Amino acid sequence: MLGVISNIQRFTVHDGPGIRLTVFMQGCPLSCWWCHNPECIKHHNADDNSEHLRYNVKELMKEIRKELIFMDESGGGVTFSGGEPMMQPIFLSEILDACKKEDIHTAVDTSGLVSTDTFDSLVDKADLFLYDLKVIDNALHQKYTGASNTLILKNLKTLNDQQKKVIIRMPLIPGMTDSKQNIDDVIKLLSQLSNIKNINLLPYHSIAEGKYTKFNIPYKMKDVKVLSEDKITEIKNLFTNAGLNASIGG
Ligand code: SF4
Repeated sequence: MLGVISNIQRFTVHDGPGIRLTVFMQGCPLSCWWCHNPECIKHHNADDNSEHLRYNVKELMKEIRKELIFMDESGGGVTFSGGEPMMQPIFLSEILDACKKEDIHTAVDTSGLVSTDTFDSLVDKADLFLYDLKVIDNALHQKYTGASNTLILKNLKTLNDQQKKVIIRMPLIPGMTDSKQNIDDVIKLLSQLSNIKNINLLPYHSIAEGKYTKFNIPYKMKDVKVLSEDKITEIKNLFTNAGLNASIGG
């Protein structure tokens, strides 16, 4: 079994605790307007001879082991991101098992849009989930990401039922995710869960625009301005005033 990987980043510090190796896996079932990794969205196929990297578990473990000294000293590990890592469930399952065997901390950065069976089969294998939460209203979710959030909300509940450690990642996108209604809905949902360690609020920035040009992908965010510091702080305060542990960035 080969994993199709778009990139591997070393020394990452925002994808879970400590210093980490982040593996960006190819393919995502969503197409968020603001995606920072649009090159990761397209699913690979057998005759795809693009620049994607292909690793078997043994080869990827070799890459992971090169970083062990930094991971051990910093309490870090390896994060599988994307794209959506659960779109390659067999490979992800095998690499998570291999990491567990060597006591390497693992995090899965997921959109949550995965079938219940696949999700349930992977829940126990990772130490931490970085879980994206965007829009609670289903029609708006569909509009801005191209898919319903029904499964996403269901799978988040599964993580709570199983008391898995979760860090929520919420992009703050002006006019799309930052409305008072959406923030209130997110707070209401998260207040009912007991397994959320932190909520990373990720303010929109236009850093990825060049990638859209490079990969010839239409960029829908041209007219979107970044949020002011005051607005970001105001949103963060809504979370903390509700007793939730929120931070900006992450
Ligand atoms: S879920 Fe993440 S990787 Fe997938 S399209 Fe949205 S922002 Fe991009």
